[in-house]
Amino acid sequence: MSGQIKGEKIYRGIPVSAGVCRGKVLVLHQARHVIARRRIADTELAGEIKRFEQALVRTRQQMVEIQRRVIQNTGASEGDIFDAHMLMLEDRVVIDEVIRMIQEQKSNADFAFHTVTDRYIAAMAREEDEFFRERVDVLRDTSGRVLDNLLEVKDSFDLKRLNEPCILVGHDLSPSMTAQLDRKYVLGFATDIGGKTSHTAILARSLDIPAIVGAQTLSEELETGDYALLDGYNGTVIVNPTDQTLFEYGQLAQIQASLNEKLREIQNQPAVTLDGKTIHLSANIEDQHDIESVLAHGAEGVGLFRTEFLFINRDQLPTEEEQYQVYRQVAAALKPHPVIIRTLDLGGDKFASHLQLAREMNPFLGWRAIRFCLAQPEMFRAQIRAILRASPEGRVKMMYPMISGLDELNQANALVEKCKAELRADQIPFNEAMKIGAMIEIPSAALIADALAKKVSFFSIGSNDLIQYTLAADRTNEKVSHLYEPTHPAILRLIKMTVDAAHAHGIWAGVCGEIAGDPVLTPLLLGLGVDELSAAPAVLDQVKYIIRRVKLSEARELATFALASESSAEIFARCVKFARETAPSLFEGQS
Ligand code: PEP
Ligand code: MG
Repeated sequence: MSGQIKGEKIYRGIPVSAGVCRGKVLVLHQARHVIARRRIADTELAGEIKRFEQALVRTRQQMVEIQRRVIQNTGASEGDIFDAHMLMLEDRVVIDEVIRMIQEQKSNADFAFHTVTDRYIAAMAREEDEFFRERVDVLRDTSGRVLDNLLEVKDSFDLKRLNEPCILVGHDLSPSMTAQLDRKYVLGFATDIGGKTSHTAILARSLDIPAIVGAQTLSEELETGDYALLDGYNGTVIVNPTDQTLFEYGQLAQIQASLNEKLREIQNQPAVTLDGKTIHLSANIEDQHDIESVLAHGAEGVGLFRTEFLFINRDQLPTEEEQYQVYRQVAAALKPHPVIIRTLDLGGDKFASHLQLAREMNPFLGWRAIRFCLAQPEMFRAQIRAILRASPEGRVKMMYPMISGLDELNQANALVEKCKAELRADQIPFNEAMKIGAMIEIPSAALIADALAKKVSFFSIGSNDLIQYTLAADRTNEKVSHLYEPTHPAILRLIKMTVDAAHAHGIWAGVCGEIAGDPVLTPLLLGLGVDELSAAPAVLDQVKYIIRRVKLSEARELATFALASESSAEIFARCVKFARETAPSLFEGQS
């Protein structure tokens, strides 16, 4: 069903992960169910009907549960809409027709159900009467859920079923879905919504696959089977690229290949400026499978281990032992380099489906990260104990996300002391001197950095959140992406305050948000006095490349200029100019 679009057509979005890929498009909502007709043997007909009836029962149970949660969270009137869904599940006309089709045509239940409901949906959509047209969505939603149950699809599309390379296009892709993507089959992806520092975008960089977000109505305009080129440098999807376009992209590929050659040459060299300042360059990881990539890109350890990815896409919480095994493995593989394990940061745009948390109005301002952990001491305790137990296996450090004030820090530290006492009593070894740091990602934390600095051994600035909270611009919302400005004077002042407070108290300050992996901003961060940068392994080579071409004295001049400026745009333009002059090879072929 491809080929709606004739000739080349270009769609634009926000580039979030570099690289170019081309291939067949798979539009997620169109691919929600792959339904094939199967012939059922006479002896299996009764079982097939039972399977259908069980799917109806299961769907009903799910709808009752959803209705219960909606009523609990929003009030009874909102929950009423599900009555219509449930009535449809009991519609004898439809049910009998499906059963007849299974029996008479010896058809599999999913095919029979899909065929019958599709006919009703088409007929209702044609009706003039508003009453019927309003019910189309309900029928579509209900039948989709029945098919989910018949086909045992857990998510809206089971990405594990992919069996040929494709470019994924969808309205949205949740971080949990993105975490399941198989690089063998997903060449790249594009979504209608999303921001540059959403966790979906972060995962794309981590998986090192080209991606764009915020492409508006792309998923409605493209069809599964269309042929497209996705440019993750410039944020475009080009459907039916012409020979001329393919030729130009061939040239870009050559430029990239020669840059990659240059980057490989410095992979094992230190990240040191021309005037001798060494910057600690480390990697951001999501799980133990990223170790290979950390080593391949010459990172000096891990500056941010986002442990929440061990908690999502599974049916139960990972046990202390299970977590210990993972932390241990990462620490041992990267020894003698440090591994900074960040304690659980669930909430915001990352959820563990099995925890069944109530929906919040403002999840980024709600029950997230350290707030959630302090309210779930048993779960937090298991993680802290696992980290402590892994600490003798390498240079393990631990840091807390979303610290907003001293109280949280004190409470978390008290829990750590309790865990240490337990381990001591049980004679379980751990490193007594394991360093603990705080993420600075809430403006209040940056403003009281001098007080926090007395309680921790390091700071790691989480610029992704620091920017969204300071500028009140949701990091996942493309509609406010123009306000999400890393070079906003307010952000630079908060970074400077944090770094100065750290240094005044004899501790170091790093950056582990996405700005740490953007070579355009590297000189500015060095000039602001940052000691460590931690980013996705695939972008570290470029950051190191520019560090090795910069003079710290010039980076400081750039920072002085930036701190005196009142305009984000002016600061950004100066950073771009500086970076392009310092390391022109990094920007060749980019608009
Ligand atoms: C950040 O906020 O900058 C950060 C590194 O943490 P996360 O992106 O996981 O919220
Ligand atoms: Mg954060």
